[in-house]
Amino acid sequence: MVLAFIGLYIAEGRSQLRKRKQERNKRIIINTIGSIPAFTLLRFFFLPIMVKLAMKNQHFKLGLNYRYNAHPIVKGIMAFLIMDYTNYLWHILNHKLPFLWRFHVVHHSDPDLDLSTALRFHFGEMIGSVFYRGAFVLVSGASALQVLLYEILFEGATQFHHSNWKLPYKIEKNLNKLIVTPRMHGIHHSIIKEETDSNYSVIFSFWDRMHNTARLNVNQDLIITGVPSYSNHDELTVAYLLKMPFTKIRPWNKEFEARGNKSYLPDKGILAK
Ligand SMILES: [Zn+2]
Repeated sequence: MVLAFIGLYIAEGRSQLRKRKQERNKRIIINTIGSIPAFTLLRFFFLPIMVKLAMKNQHFKLGLNYRYNAHPIVKGIMAFLIMDYTNYLWHILNHKLPFLWRFHVVHHSDPDLDLSTALRFHFGEMIGSVFYRGAFVLVSGASALQVLLYEILFEGATQFHHSNWKLPYKIEKNLNKLIVTPRMHGIHHSIIKEETDSNYSVIFSFWDRMHNTARLNVNQDLIITGVPSYSNHDELTVAYLLKMPFTKIRPWNKEFEARGNKSYLPDKGILAK
């Protein structure tokens, strides 16, 4: 994970996709310090619980993987797909349920989108996901190894698609047919509500295509990142971000959505530059 982080840090520094509003180092400081509670919970609480639950699956033969006969690789793929699909649904819930949005808005309030945004999660969101994602570890019947493998790829994918790395367009367009890429996720962080309400997938991008929640036709240089009602960067200090879910959450301010539909390319399903 550290190596992936360093590699992506260098890549997005050399080839930048979207213009920044904030200075890069300032962002790293805010997002890294703000992530300490969530990161601590993830490493010492969330991951061990996921692995323990998977060990229970193995011990008691719980979950879908124990209900049918197939090659272990097939079962591994099935467990992986179930975990990735349920994370897609979890991400939708984080946007649609006001109680979960309280926590997820901390992540979306970032005025820029780059590698450091991949760290910017409130610890409350992490606690909620233990129950939800833990339940689907039990349902899938994933083994401890499968869970660990999924979590490693989940974290790697999160770093990758939040990065501000400008990949050659043709390569990204092809890659995006299978996995979530920086341009695709950049649209999810837009201040325009309809754009934020799209592209929820984490690793595989086909969940969005299957459910018609993919919106790929927005040029990256037109995107304004953030949440319009939280557009004053100076108030978004580490202390404020940590207490944000416990304050009155501001409704999405439509007035700031300055850009009209004109900027959309005709086909929603084709990734724009
Ligand atoms: Zn989101």
